[in-house]
This record gives sequence, structure tokens and C-alpha cells, in this order.
Amino acid sequence: MQTLTILGATGSIGKSTLDVVARHPERFRIAALTARNQVDAMEAACLSAGPRYAVMSEAAAAAELDQRLRARAPHVQVLAGEAALSEVAALPEVDTVMAAIVGAAGLRPTLAAARAGKRVLLANKEALVMAGQLFLRTVREGGGTVIPIDSEHNAILQCLPGRFDGNWAGVGVRRILLTASGGPFRATPFGELAAVTPDQACAHPNWVMGRKISVDSATMMNKGLEVIEAHYLFNAPAESIEVVVHPQSVIHSMVEYVDGSVIAQMGNPDMRTPIAHALAFPERIESGVRSLNFFALTGLHFERPDLARFPCLALAYDALRMGGTMPATLNAANEVAVARFLEGGLRFDRIAPVIETVLARAQHRVASGLDDVFDADRCARDAAKHALAHA
Ligand code: NAD
Ligand code: MG
Repeated sequence: MQTLTILGATGSIGKSTLDVVARHPERFRIAALTARNQVDAMEAACLSAGPRYAVMSEAAAAAELDQRLRARAPHVQVLAGEAALSEVAALPEVDTVMAAIVGAAGLRPTLAAARAGKRVLLANKEALVMAGQLFLRTVREGGGTVIPIDSEHNAILQCLPGRFDGNWAGVGVRRILLTASGGPFRATPFGELAAVTPDQACAHPNWVMGRKISVDSATMMNKGLEVIEAHYLFNAPAESIEVVVHPQSVIHSMVEYVDGSVIAQMGNPDMRTPIAHALAFPERIESGVRSLNFFALTGLHFERPDLARFPCLALAYDALRMGGTMPATLNAANEVAVARFLEGGLRFDRIAPVIETVLARAQHRVASGLDDVFDADRCARDAAKHALAHA
């Protein structure tokens, strides 16, 4: 029996995780679920999954949930506040933590899971982008593991040999081909991007996801964050990670070897595949995802990313090459700009210039500890708000 905590249980990844878990009651037990403030979704999840703990990081939401569950599920203990997220990520009875909070808010609880030696199923890519080396060191020192949930990185893991330990030459890897759908504006002329609304940006052609990652996919910052994520997870130099736009999202990424072989992982675009893979690793379990119908595919198409229309991708490569706290700066500036865009206060095509301004003015520092990372995060948020005020 595997015991799980799901951080971000009411989100898109959280719900897909609960769906896979519910298919295997003999295999998985839920110790804790967390969310920010979505009381309805959390109540439903508690009633069906029966966790011991339910954490709402906002106190008012916790009080409301507690009241609703008192009669119907008195065995669920409701906790409030940010610190409780880290507590339930490190519970002694928990083996596996699904890290599916969106953004920088997920860093502390994800690190808490790593420190406690858990098997960390990592969807929260922002945590790795912000604190890559620190995060990996914490996983090593804690004696746990990290398994990527991001479909591309999970695909890469599946395309690498089981004995891969970060030594590319040892297994003959030449490069990583990171596929990208190109998002809803792959073919939209630059001049039309100014008028894009939040709802248009969130209408992804292949995936249904939370609003922040949907906007990131539309700007291609998502792919930029994923380049940084791949760098850390697979010890990959920036120049050995090539982004390949593949609008059908059937190939989820590829690994090329020195002998010319290219191994791809394919499947319907449904996050339950990587979630099931990571949950059962190294075994395989049913995920609810239907078979890929090759006869219904209209073709597999590939193109180079257009960095002129999608400058966020280039900014992410820049931040990765600069290293230190720059990826944390990139991430924070992006979070602020995307939140403002979603509120209707920033044009879609102004997201990248805001991030570029913040990166250009940021102090380049070594990320030797968590304080450095959070300092960079704070400075970048202030700088982004300043840039927005003058945008
Ligand atoms: P979502 O917005 O649907 O859900 C986010 C979850 O995090 C919710 O449960 C919410 O309550 C919680 N949360 C948000 N802010 C919080 C805060 N300040 N404190 C505590 N909890 C907070 O997001 P999602 O689409 O499920 O994405 C989650 C993560 O997984 C992101 O990092 C995203 O990049 C990554 N990811 C998502 C997908 C996908 O298909 N949705 C694919 C790959 C990677
Ligand atoms: Mg992805």
C-alpha cells in the first residue's frame, strides 16, 4: 500500500491524480489533500478519497471546510495555513507526495517532502526552476527520489535507460528533443497577439489545464520553464535541449542517442498517463487513458519555434545560461505578469517585455541557499510591479 499526500488536490493535476488513485484502491491510500481556497472541490475530494488531513492554506476556507465536514466526514482533520502544507508533505506515514501546487507557492512544501525523503512526483515545475540545484541537493540528502509529472519530462524519463544517472556519455545520449504544441497562437500573426483575451489564451487546443500554465503555454514561457526543468532533471546542457513544435501533442518528447537512434514516447494527450507512470514506477498500471488511434491521426507535424513571436522561450534560455538566481527571477517576473494579464490589466504581447526588463535590471547572484532564491523572487516581483506601473 502506498500512502500519498496530494499538494494542490483541487487543481487540474490534483484531480487527475485522484482519478488514477481511485482506480486502484488496493494500491493507494490518501493521507492528506491540500488546496488554497476551493472549498467545494476540496469537500468533494475529501468525501470520496477520505484523507486523514485536509489543508486549506487560507484560514477562512479552512473554517468553512471544517464546518461542512464535521457532520459528513468527522474523521478528516482540517488544518489551516501555509506551514500545514509542509507538515502534511513530511508526515511519517507518507511515502509519496504529488507536488501539484502552481507557482512559487509550491516551493516550500515540495522541499519539505524532499527533505523528508519522500518520493516526490513533481508537477510544480516552478519549484525546480526557482531552486534547481538546491532542490536536487535536498532530494539527495533526504534520500528520496523525484519523478517528473510534466508530460515532456516524464516522456524523457521513459525514453532514457533505467540505469541513467545523469552521465550522458555513459548511456550515449546526444540530445533531448522537447516537444511543444505551440499553444493556441502557434499560427497567429504577431500583430494580432495584442488583442488576445485571457479566455482565448486559456483555450489550449490539446490540453485542459489551470489558467496560469495555460497562459504560459500560449506565450511559450511554459516551454522555457520546461527547458530549465529538463536541464536540472537530466543534467542537460542548454545547447543539448532542442524545442520541437509538434502541434498534435502525440509525441510527448524524444531522446536522441549518439548512434542516431531517436526514441519517442507517444500517447493521447492526457495527464493521467504520466501520473499513472510516476505513481506506479517502475511498474505500469491502468490510467483510464484510451489507446492511441493511429488510423485517426491526420499526421505528425514538426516545426521550429518562432522566437520572434514567442520571445519568452528565448528569455528562459538566457536565464538558464546566466544561471544562479536568474531562473528564479524569470519565474517570479512571469508569475506577476501572467497574473496581471489574467486580471485584464496587461496586454498579452506585453508579458515578455515586462519579464525582459526585470531580467535586464536584476542582480546576478549565486543561489547558495533558499534565502538567495526567495530574495531574488521578492526583488523580481517588486521590479515586475514597477515595470507594470510604467508599461
Ligand atoms: P491549477 O491552477 O489547476 O491548480 C493549482 C492547485 O494549487 C490548486 O489545488 C490550488 O488550490 C493550489 N494552489 C494555488 N495557489 C496556491 C497557494 N498560494 N497556496 C497553496 N495552494 C495553492 O494548476 P494545474 O494546472 O493543476 O498545475 C499545477 C502545477 O502542475 C503547475 O506547476 C503546472 O505548471 C504543472 N503542470 C500542469 C499540467 C496540467 O496539465 N495541468 C501539466 C504539466 C505541469
Ligand atoms: Mg509540459
